[in-house]
Amino acid sequence: MPDPTSKSPIQHSIDILIIGAGLAGLSAASDLQQAGHNVMLVDKGRGLGGRLAGRRIGEASFDHGAQFMTARGPRFQKTVAEWIEAGIAEEWYSSYPGHQNSHPRYRGVPTMTAIAKYLATDLNILRSVRVLEIAQDNNQWLATLDNGESISAKSMIITSPIPQTLDLLASGNIQIPADKLARLQRIEYEACIAVMAVLDSPSSILAPGAMVIEDSPIAWISDNQQKGVSKIPAVTIHGSGAFSAKYFDSDRMASGQQLIDAALPLLGAKVTDYQVHGWLYSKPTVVDPESCMLLTDGTELPPLVLAGDAFDGPKVEGAVSSGWAAAAVLASLV
Ligand SMILES: Cc1cc2nc3c(=O)[nH]c(=O)nc-3n(C[C@H](O)[C@H](O)[C@H](O)COP(=O)(O)OP(=O)(O)OC[C@H]3O[C@@H](n4cnc5c(N)ncnc54)[C@H](O)[C@@H]3O)c2cc1C
Repeated sequence: MPDPTSKSPIQHSIDILIIGAGLAGLSAASDLQQAGHNVMLVDKGRGLGGRLAGRRIGEASFDHGAQFMTARGPRFQKTVAEWIEAGIAEEWYSSYPGHQNSHPRYRGVPTMTAIAKYLATDLNILRSVRVLEIAQDNNQWLATLDNGESISAKSMIITSPIPQTLDLLASGNIQIPADKLARLQRIEYEACIAVMAVLDSPSSILAPGAMVIEDSPIAWISDNQQKGVSKIPAVTIHGSGAFSAKYFDSDRMASGQQLIDAALPLLGAKVTDYQVHGWLYSKPTVVDPESCMLLTDGTELPPLVLAGDAFDGPKVEGAVSSGWAAAAVLASLV
């Protein structure tokens, strides 16, 4: 006799499972849901947006992942215009000292994560849940989650950074055609050590509060107060690719202190508190030329598409466009 008090683990059954609620996953889900598909997203993060990340230290707020977005393609330009209309994005700047009359950089309002929250409205998302394994099961995909639940889906999109995606595919012994595997293995990322530092007074960084720095351990500093993200003086400092790779496995606070020491002459203020975050896969340095990858083309497997910024450019716009492309590919198959 089954024990009536014991609960069997929840098994969700849906049409399309999307792993990752960053911009690629959210954009794919929006298109597919609008077209009438039954979609569920799963993300291991507590917040939404993946590499659009924010953090607070007391009264200070930080964008510590993506800092801004540019818009080049017509659909993305139209989308950014809609976000501005909705009050969740605005132009931050188009020129900064030494670089006049350049293209506009847009920011999320109040922070970059506002864009992810906006895209997530009405979507079915499981948060703080990691997909441990994926496997093929009776012509469906079966994802095993770290909360004991599982999801079976007729088709799937995976948007994690490619090395993590390859691990997931290996977990289910999913065979990748050799030409596609070679393309995936060519994709590379750079790491980024990001410091979020609270200041004792406004920084001396010139308007608009953004600095690109070359030939330094620091690649970028932004003034979150000037940007409108933080009520009190607070800066985000991004280590360069070379610095971040060298110190990624070292003591995080010590690496952060090295970046602060290098930044101090530029800040004109003292750091009163700081936190450090390491992005192992911050931005792809080698991307695939296609906008997404239908992995199961020509196989007996149910549809599986890979998407994310590794496919359509190493940035916010590329991630969104790749999500849209993955949605279009799946919609043509299901
Ligand atoms: C420090 C930094 C600075 C940047 N600056 C800029 C900038 O100024 N301008 C710009 O345009 N771009 C910038 N970028 C790049 C931009 O943030 C990314 O290109 C974009 O956000 C990638 O979106 P995505 O959806 O492809 O991936 P992600 O945002 O990484 O989304 C993937 C999601 O998958 C989830 N996930 C992974 N594995 C699992 C699993 N097993 N189970 C469940 N969930 C899983 C992750 O939690 C994540 O949320 C920056 C990135 C970083 C890190």
